[in-house]
Amino acid sequence: MKVGFLGLGNMGAAIAANLLKAGHEVIVWNRSKLKAEPLVAAGAGLAGSPAQAAAGSDIVMTMLADDAALDATLSGSEGLYQGLRPGSLHISMSTIAVATADEIAAAHGGRGQSFLCAPVFGRPEAAKAAKLFVVTAGEAAAIDRAAPLFAAISQRVFRVGDKPSAASLVKLCGNFMILSAVEALGEAMTLAEKGGVQPAQLLEVLTGSLFDAPIYRTYGTLIAERRYLPAGFAAPLGLKDMRLVGASAEALRVPMPLLSVLRDHLLQAIAQQGGEVDWSAIASSAARNAGLPG
Ligand code: NAP
Repeated sequence: MKVGFLGLGNMGAAIAANLLKAGHEVIVWNRSKLKAEPLVAAGAGLAGSPAQAAAGSDIVMTMLADDAALDATLSGSEGLYQGLRPGSLHISMSTIAVATADEIAAAHGGRGQSFLCAPVFGRPEAAKAAKLFVVTAGEAAAIDRAAPLFAAISQRVFRVGDKPSAASLVKLCGNFMILSAVEALGEAMTLAEKGGVQPAQLLEVLTGSLFDAPIYRTYGTLIAERRYLPAGFAAPLGLKDMRLVGASAEALRVPMPLLSVLRDHLLQAIAQQGGEVDWSAIASSAARNAGLPG
């Protein structure tokens, strides 16, 4: 299949590489050209603009940082709206606001273009291993059309309805739960460590008994080793996601008191440790607040 791929950051570069490996004809574009070089060396075509990537493609996938990055890539004379042929499909895999997903769906619909939201669960290591979980929503025929691409990058695909923004909402709920688990791990590990139990030992007990889940294993190890750099998922992107959760919570009149704590702790981690750290660095704030090294 001819696929345009826009956004070659931590996630996008790994996903595009797996599409190439699966034998798809991939043409890539990234705002900073340098990041495209390894993919071009591996056989991808290079587009000079989002519109150019779209011109010869049946499907264009985007994996950009946030709503603003997606908007910048869609709009203008060189943008995706302009370049995508009627009947072609745009699959957005970024974590974006529910309202933004609705706006993009309407804009594509008005141009006779198809649109799917397909955000993913899994960090860059999972993306490299083609082990992502894809959560998608949109017209069933469009999801069927995208199936070979999803198969090349993921271990499972969840369909959550025919309104694209439903997938964004599911993804935002999931990220809220991941960060809640990280906060709980950070506080529990701090308590254990201050009381003389090694965090790694606590983690062995928890993941070997009632908390045997990928989230606890992955983030528990990062926290026990205080390994917040380099970021797999940078704290500012996590802050963006908590802001998007808050926007949906306000729109739907859903009080989420835990969300305020998570947002504040992300702000604290970014203020104290810089914007380069992983979002799991909120656990180091728990340690520092207790007088331990963060
Ligand atoms: P990243 O490494 O920061 O990459 C961001 C990408 O967006 C880069 O290609 C960047 O281009 C591009 N970009 C940013 N601003 C732009 C603009 N104004 N115009 C055009 N391009 C722009 O982020 P990531 O970790 O790959 O995450 C990408 C998306 O996946 C995010 O929505 C994130 O929430 C979601 N996600 C991430 C993870 C994870 O663990 N990392 C997991 C699941 C979902 P440049 O290279 O030019 O800066």
